[in-house]
Amino acid sequence: MTFISKIYSLNMEPKPNTKKILILDRDNTINRDTGYTYRLKDLVLIEESVELLASAAELRIPVVIISNQSLVNRGLASLDEVEKFNDALVEKLEKKKCKIDAIIFCPHIPEEECSCRKPKIDMFLEAFRYYPEASEFCYVGDSESDMEAAKNAGIEFFSSSIKYGYTQAINWLTK
Ligand SMILES: [Mg+2]
Ligand SMILES: [Zn+2]
Repeated sequence: MTFISKIYSLNMEPKPNTKKILILDRDNTINRDTGYTYRLKDLVLIEESVELLASAAELRIPVVIISNQSLVNRGLASLDEVEKFNDALVEKLEKKKCKIDAIIFCPHIPEEECSCRKPKIDMFLEAFRYYPEASEFCYVGDSESDMEAAKNAGIEFFSSSIKYGYTQAINWLTK
């Protein structure tokens, strides 16, 4: 029982600034959450996240998305549907000059007690493995469990449930 990961552009660009890595939650952080969001027609970007991701791209700071997607094992959407949504998200962001390096998600429901569902940190450890030379990671998310996950992973947290959280994350990128 493990998480699912897809690498989009890791190491495909000229050497990025690998000192800092920006990790973000997906729903309600990058795109609007309609409650189990997987339909392409529900894909709406949050303006502040576009600004944050464009800053990361400009600074050549890699970006990883880490997300709980229990809708898969709840039987509400197929893996394929989730991956199609993710691909469309990456593509939509690319058009706005934002780059996503990888997306890691947990398809399990809480009752399965997997070791990847946030606030557990298996998905974070995977992201850390991608960038052995990185020295600083932060996580941007909207929920209590996001905050807890960042704490458990020992990295800085910024809340996307308040606009100022995005500003704080941009400041973290540039400091
Ligand atoms: Mg969220
Ligand atoms: Zn899991």
